[in-house]
Amino acid sequence: MPPHPETWMKVTPLGLYCEPGGFHVDPTRAVDRAVISHGHADHARPGHAAVLATPETLAIMRARFGEDRAGDTQQPLRYGESVTINGVRLTLHPAGHVLGSAQVALEWQGSRIVVSGDYKRRRDPTCAGFVPVECDVFVTEATFALPVFRHPPDSHEIRRLLDSVALFPERAHVVGAYALGKTQRIIALLREAGWDRPIHLHGAVEKLCTLYESLGVPLGALLPVPKGLKRGHPPILAGEIVIAPPSAEATPWARRLADPVTCAASGWMTVRQRAKLRAVELPLIISDHADWDELLQTIDDVRAPEVWVTHGRDDALVHALSLKGIRGRALHLVGREDEEDEGAPEALGEETTP
Ligand SMILES: [Zn+2]
Ligand SMILES: [Zn+2]
Repeated sequence: MPPHPETWMKVTPLGLYCEPGGFHVDPTRAVDRAVISHGHADHARPGHAAVLATPETLAIMRARFGEDRAGDTQQPLRYGESVTINGVRLTLHPAGHVLGSAQVALEWQGSRIVVSGDYKRRRDPTCAGFVPVECDVFVTEATFALPVFRHPPDSHEIRRLLDSVALFPERAHVVGAYALGKTQRIIALLREAGWDRPIHLHGAVEKLCTLYESLGVPLGALLPVPKGLKRGHPPILAGEIVIAPPSAEATPWARRLADPVTCAASGWMTVRQRAKLRAVELPLIISDHADWDELLQTIDDVRAPEVWVTHGRDDALVHALSLKGIRGRALHLVGREDEEDEGAPEALGEETTP
């Protein structure tokens, strides 16, 4: 009989640790050997000795942390390719979350665990789509694991943005979006909807747009929001779309813009109270995380008899699992932040322009 996954995948203060393989998955602090699911700050940390990830995730880590902090040795592994580490066979599969995001499939002595990192199921023009992998234990997040979270189609939300731009040509539209993934997805969705004017970028989201383009994701004409305007300069970018990190609209940076319409692109915009608190005029429900239906669909697709929930609304999900006859286990991993939350540590980041 294959060993129970709990005997070889351990929950430690640093996160999940594959004991026979001798490596952590998405550890919260620097370790000797790390396997990284994707480039968001709550999964990818600087300073590991050895890092294994997709080539795109490694490029994102180098761009964010600098060449010397992104892992002393970096081992790229493409989707669908496998390596064996101390007898543990490791394969990366697309997670559909952001460029380079991967599920980490681990097989040892006939038992298979899939650590999904963060994921979503709907199409995203900026990254490869999620591939379900059957397994004995599926490790999932539960950020939006409540039946109230049912994200509408992206095209619907993008249409609402473009309608508002048409309705208020004298105002600038500022879309608050996380720098890695969400920003590039919004731009790509705008292009698909036919918006071919230059899109203006806050300094904090520029670098990763450049990186996405260099990795083969076309984003069209992008321009920086002009800096260093003289006092008394008339407000700028009326009728244009600006992408900025969440909450940049509340900083002096936004004063240069023509009567900005504050938009925020996040799964949390389902919650009216959140939009109100942030004074978001146009909430856009666009999420890089699975909603309630996507979570349950995925659990059906991977056919795992046991599901481990890393963080989020684990109680609701574990209950839904029990109704399906699936054993649910809440891991309560610490250090997992939701990058769609405006309180995320990197919401503004060190690259913020004053
Ligand atoms: Zn993420
Ligand atoms: Zn995350």
